[in-house]
Amino acid sequence: MDHLLSGVHQFQSQVFQRERDFFDKLVAGQTPSALFVTCSDSRVDPNLITQSGPGELFVLRNAGNIVPPHGASNGGEAATIEYAVAALGVRDVVICGHSGCGAVQTLLHPEKAATMPLVSRWLQHAETTRRIIAENYTHATGDELVEIAVQEHVLVQIENIQTHPAVAVKLQRGELTLHAWVYHLETGEVLSYSPEDGRFEPLNAADPAASAKRVMDNPMLRK
Ligand SMILES: [Zn+2]
Repeated sequence: MDHLLSGVHQFQSQVFQRERDFFDKLVAGQTPSALFVTCSDSRVDPNLITQSGPGELFVLRNAGNIVPPHGASNGGEAATIEYAVAALGVRDVVICGHSGCGAVQTLLHPEKAATMPLVSRWLQHAETTRRIIAENYTHATGDELVEIAVQEHVLVQIENIQTHPAVAVKLQRGELTLHAWVYHLETGEVLSYSPEDGRFEPLNAADPAASAKRVMDNPMLRK
């Protein structure tokens, strides 16, 4: 815990003071461009892997980046999604799974959660993923099976989020784009689902100039 406390002190005494103007702008309100849904896994850092900073991503995290279908859960997920889309008007939703996801592995081996009744109950929201893997990927094993499951799992959540009324309305108007990503802990690579090709492919930096500008605009990322 000590390094966290010293981190807070360092942030306040150095970073915040140095970037005062930037933080003053944030006080006026938030206009994040994207809702970023990902796993609670400590190794996945949405701002780090997208090189974005405070104010840019509205983040929803839980064990296994699960988006329960509309009406299936009384958790905060639906409210967070509704607020992001209806109130903040985000234009993009990224659902980002990751390699070696513990939640997905537990889904494949439910006995791992035998002593965690709440985890077991939460993972019931991912039953569709479990079923798809059990019935359609009987040939796969080991790491390959986990990778397939992680990818299929993200696609199921893309389906689920479309059942949320606020999302459905914006999609119909063409005001919202959904992105299915998988982050690889081993390489830093991000795969993105290509509907045209029907598979996950390395994320195409279609607009590198825009990406570079975003980094430069963000004082938090300057060394
Ligand atoms: Zn995970």
